[in-house]
Amino acid sequence: MAESVMVCEVGPRDGLQMATGRMPTEVKIRWIAALAGAGLQEIEVGSFVPARIIPQMDDTDAVVRASLRLEGLTVVALAPNLRGAQAAYEAGAHRVSIPVSVSEGHSRANLNRSPNEQVAEVARIVAWVRAQARPMEVEAACSTAFGCSFDGVVPEVAVLAIAAGLAEAGVDGVALADTVGYAHPAQVRSLVRAVRGEIGAKLENLHLHDTMGLGLANALAGLEEGVRGFDAALAGLGGCPFAPGASGNIVTEDLVFMLESMGFSTGIDLDLLIAARDILAEGLPGEALHGGVAKAGLPRTFQAAA
Ligand code: ZN
Repeated sequence: MAESVMVCEVGPRDGLQMATGRMPTEVKIRWIAALAGAGLQEIEVGSFVPARIIPQMDDTDAVVRASLRLEGLTVVALAPNLRGAQAAYEAGAHRVSIPVSVSEGHSRANLNRSPNEQVAEVARIVAWVRAQARPMEVEAACSTAFGCSFDGVVPEVAVLAIAAGLAEAGVDGVALADTVGYAHPAQVRSLVRAVRGEIGAKLENLHLHDTMGLGLANALAGLEEGVRGFDAALAGLGGCPFAPGASGNIVTEDLVFMLESMGFSTGIDLDLLIAARDILAEGLPGEALHGGVAKAGLPRTFQAAA
């Protein structure tokens, strides 16, 4: 049996929030169904943020509810605060993902709070969620963990302090996010090791962007350090409205191609995954679609992990 890696598709959230166009709700729901049909088991389907800030996300409640009908899918929603987490719970999300910027500049721009204030907000969210009748997983993502477009270098000790605070707050899992895409493989290796040393297996996931073309190299460094969860976006959509210069997420199709070729099972059918790009193109005409595998086609040498 091949070792498995969990790929979480974040295109419907991270991808669409930066798109110039607006994907109609009906197409979004069909797209998510196609992604789940291709074998993705975790999809971040939207975020509970005020519509005046990110209008593309004002249908997240309806999208979460529709996604719950897809069998076997873990439905994830992003929420920046307790109010958003409560909305995610009410909609029925299986997991809420809370962004916590490590750098002061991004934290102020994105959340209007200091990093420590946001850790305190996560503690409030965990306490509230644990008091509800239905369980919901709470994941926190350390944004700008590898560098910040406002503050520049983000010291490793700052990431460790935030990660430790989040583990203490009782989250189910912590992700390290290269929000602006400044990371390089040696840095990924070093930070993953250091955070592991601080919070152990609570470090579950890497969220990488391909701004400098190092996205897959960074994923490989994380993989070799033992990380078994990665965010990615179909066709490499994505960015951050509060992180100038950030470009798309790592391309799901290319990541899956790399993992399967190396013998890591993802449960994802690459042909069906590539076909899901058609719905994306239909819902967002004119949007640039990235990715090597989809453009070149699956090579004849390709063999999925057994
Ligand atoms: Zn991102």
